[in-house]
Amino acid sequence: MTIEPDTKDWTWVLRRPCPECGFDTQSFAAPAVPEMIVANAAAWRDMLTGPGDLRRRPTPDKWSAVEYGCHVRDVFRLYDQRLELILSRDDPLFPNWDQDATAVAERYAEQDPAVVAAALPEAAQAIASRFAGVTAGQWQRTGRRSDGASFTVETFARYLIHDPIHHLYDVTGQRA
Ligand SMILES: [Zn+2]
Repeated sequence: MTIEPDTKDWTWVLRRPCPECGFDTQSFAAPAVPEMIVANAAAWRDMLTGPGDLRRRPTPDKWSAVEYGCHVRDVFRLYDQRLELILSRDDPLFPNWDQDATAVAERYAEQDPAVVAAALPEAAQAIASRFAGVTAGQWQRTGRRSDGASFTVETFARYLIHDPIHHLYDVTGQRA
């Protein structure tokens, strides 16, 4: 069995708490996002260097811890590029990204958990630093996804931070 492609539109997390992981994207001030990203990355690093079989899929259609770790690392990298676009251009259209095709092409399942554990916090630090540099006047700059969803820097930040928190829940079963 393979992973079901995730084509769901998750922008509803901007309007109500997530019933799965329990995280509420409206429960914090946007400038807190950089420290939330760094704290989340530390939890991933601890988990990816901790005990347990990090390559085991709990069920054949669910990613293993290392596969989720690769995904979160790449989300941080991709969203840092998108954030750079929003801050440097007027209402840019983000290049499309197929997360499931990337997982196959980059062989997530075969990646070394120790290497991912080091790379994920680096990617997190990069985007956290860029968010930390957002000025008061920049939070309402806009960008668009290829599916038509439109974000401000603020909604982009709230949307982004749910992803690694939700996937940590996917792996640990501990709600936000
Ligand atoms: Zn969630």
